[in-house]
Amino acid sequence: MPEHTRIIVIGGGIVGCSVLYSLAKLGWTDSILIEKRNLTSGSTWHAAGNCTFFGHYPSITRLFVNSVSSYLQAESESGQSIDFHSTGSLRLATNEKELAYYRSLEPLYDQLGVNYRVVPPTTVSELFPLLSTEGVLGAAHTPDDGHVDAFGATHALAKAAKIRGAEIRLNCEVKNLDLLQNGSWVVHTEVDDIVTEHVVVATSFWARELVQHLGLNLPVFALEHHEIVTDKVNSLENVEFELPSIRDPYVPCNIRQEGQGLLCGIYESEPIPWATDGIPPEFAEDLLPTNTSILDQHMTKLIKRIPVFENLGIKTIFNGPICYTPDGLPLLGPVDHFPGLWLATGFAIGIGTGGGSGEFLANWIVNGHPPYELPFVHPSRFSKNLSKAKAIDMIIETYARGYSIDHF
Ligand SMILES: Cc1cc2nc3c(=O)[nH]c(=O)nc-3n(C[C@H](O)[C@H](O)[C@H](O)COP(=O)(O)OP(=O)(O)OC[C@H]3O[C@@H](n4cnc5c(N)ncnc54)[C@H](O)[C@@H]3O)c2cc1C
Repeated sequence: MPEHTRIIVIGGGIVGCSVLYSLAKLGWTDSILIEKRNLTSGSTWHAAGNCTFFGHYPSITRLFVNSVSSYLQAESESGQSIDFHSTGSLRLATNEKELAYYRSLEPLYDQLGVNYRVVPPTTVSELFPLLSTEGVLGAAHTPDDGHVDAFGATHALAKAAKIRGAEIRLNCEVKNLDLLQNGSWVVHTEVDDIVTEHVVVATSFWARELVQHLGLNLPVFALEHHEIVTDKVNSLENVEFELPSIRDPYVPCNIRQEGQGLLCGIYESEPIPWATDGIPPEFAEDLLPTNTSILDQHMTKLIKRIPVFENLGIKTIFNGPICYTPDGLPLLGPVDHFPGLWLATGFAIGIGTGGGSGEFLANWIVNGHPPYELPFVHPSRFSKNLSKAKAIDMIIETYARGYSIDHF
């Protein structure tokens, strides 16, 4: 007789662990998370850990806001530090449209009870003294967000879920899954088969291949994404607080303090898709070769924005695959015509939204309806006939847009 469980979560990144933890909080502890290598082996281990409360799309602001609170709860239950730095963030406005858009979001944040205000360039300078405010008309300031240690947060979620009774199996690859005639699922792993009522696919850019045999065509692919870590910034010695994170539509990039240096994630204007014909089976905890030539134009702009950058040594530049969907939002919810099959994949901002997404999905699974309306993330929003080439084109366009709001 094959083993039986109520729910299986496939994938041990921050998203899969968030789903497992939230299910456990709702009393579903007859659950197994299956990870082919180790927790955080996918993209999570090298993420910068930025957790802004500024929703790129207003509809997912709640996912952002609920993520940090979920990680903090897991930290207190597990004793595993998430190393939350509550630095706050500034999202720069570089034109009138952005400024007006940021102002229009104020009532939404009031409704959510989240501190949010649009501040003038003088306040931006006070909060981030290294920044040139030339061309900056103001910024959206979310003072209570910041960054976490993505590895620590994932382990806190996993440990807290286990304390509540959930199980985690590592070094166990799921090969495929089948829907049985009685409505249950059988999950075929490299070790054995497990029968379950529900399956959550939280395998990021591996998800497309994992469910392709069911006739599903998930528009989930990876792009190369560069981050730069600088040497020590001497002038930071005179700043008595940790700098807030900056999100700048001009470069476009995000910047935050990392120790006494800076950490900067670039949204390349000519992003490079990665492994679109299938993720190499040997890929694990790997980074990709850096491609500094595509960073040149961004570096020039970055120096204009943060003049000290020009004379700063670069400690490291790294390039990791980042998961994307055509609109940049995750696939989160049930799969039409496959009862019991759920997706939690396609996360480009999985640290910022993982905790809230885990809560959202777990509530939907346990209660049979979503806790609040979020049509923008529903897995069925893309046509099943969307071609691979078209999906990749859309992903490139969305990524290259960076923090622009021109499409709103
Ligand atoms: C350089 C870089 C910096 C980033 N910085 C940030 C940031 O500051 N903030 C932010 O919000 N996001 C950031 N991101 C994005 C973030 O890393 C991802 O959104 C997030 O890690 C996705 O989490 P996940 O759980 O969906 O996927 P992953 O962490 O990739 O986890 C998926 C897991 O599934 C497992 N798996 C796959 N197939 C199978 C199978 N068949 N059987 C069993 N297990 C399987 C994999 O081994 C993996 O562990 C960054 C990304 C990059 C590349």
